[in-house]
Amino acid sequence: MPLVNPSAMLLAAREGKYCVGAFNMVDHLTLRAIIQAAEWKQAPVMIQTSSASVKDLGIPAIVAMTRQEAEDSPVPIALHLDHGTDPEVVRQAIREGYTAVMFDGSQYPFEENIARTRDVVQAAHAEGVAVEGEIGIVAGVEDDIVVRQDAAIYTTAEEAIEFQRRTGVDFLAAAIGTAHGFYRVEPRLDIDTLRQIAQAVPCPMVIHGGTGLPFEVVRQLVAAGGAKMNVSTQIKQTYIDSLYDYIQANRKQYNPIKLLTHARSALVEMIGQYMEVLGSAGKAGEGVSTSG
Ligand SMILES: [Zn+2]
Repeated sequence: MPLVNPSAMLLAAREGKYCVGAFNMVDHLTLRAIIQAAEWKQAPVMIQTSSASVKDLGIPAIVAMTRQEAEDSPVPIALHLDHGTDPEVVRQAIREGYTAVMFDGSQYPFEENIARTRDVVQAAHAEGVAVEGEIGIVAGVEDDIVVRQDAAIYTTAEEAIEFQRRTGVDFLAAAIGTAHGFYRVEPRLDIDTLRQIAQAVPCPMVIHGGTGLPFEVVRQLVAAGGAKMNVSTQIKQTYIDSLYDYIQANRKQYNPIKLLTHARSALVEMIGQYMEVLGSAGKAGEGVSTSG
C-alpha cells in the first residue's frame, strides 16, 4: 500500500496499549529487513532516517526506495525523519514525500522550541504530514548531537501539556531518562513521569533510545504509555556484527548476495523480536488512515 501518515497507527497503539517500532534504515538492505520483519510479524511500522542517512543517501533516493517497497507490501509503513534540526531538511522531507517528520528543537529554550515547532507543524499539516516534537533533552549521541547522561533534562507533565497544546504536534518525545546509543551507566528511567505525561497529553508518546534496555524495561515503558519506540543503535550493531561474523567464517568466499542475505536475516530476526516485545505484532490491520 502507499506510505501512510503514522498518526492513526500511533493513536491505535496508544488506545490498544502497545507500541509501534520506529527503526532506522541506513540503506536498502536495512529498509528491506525492517519491512520483511513487519510482514513476518504483521506489524505496522515506521521507517526512520537520521540526518546522517539523509546526507549520505539524499531525500529523493530515500523516498523513492521506501515508496517502492511500501507499495509492494500489505502492512502499513510510514516514512519518518528522525531528529530533524535543520529547518531546510525538514521542509525538503515534507515536500518530497516523507509522511512524518520530527522537529527536534530541544536545544532551544522552551518558548523558542514552541515557536519553531509550531512553524513546522503548520507547514507539515498543510501537506498531510505528521510531526513529532521533543521537549527536555535525551542523553547520548545522535549523529553529531552529544548529550551527557547527567546533563539530560527530564520533562514534567505540565511542560508536556503546554508544549503539545501550543504546537499541535501529533506525537511527542519527552526526556524520561532513556539515552541514545548504548547505556554506559544504568539509566535512571522516570517511568512514573512517562505515565503521568502519557495520561495528561492527548497525543501518543515517543520513547527514544530503545537500544540496550532490557526487554522487561521496554515492556514497562509500553505499559506506561509509550506508543512509538525508536530503535537505531541495535540495527547498526546487528548489521555490522552479522557481516563481520560471516566474513570471518567465510573468508575466501566472494559472494556478496550470500553475505548480505545473511545480514538481512539477522536483522529480520532482531527486529521481529522487538515487534513481539513492543506488542505491535499482529496489529497491521489497526489504525490505517485513509487520509494520509
Ligand atoms: Zn532520538
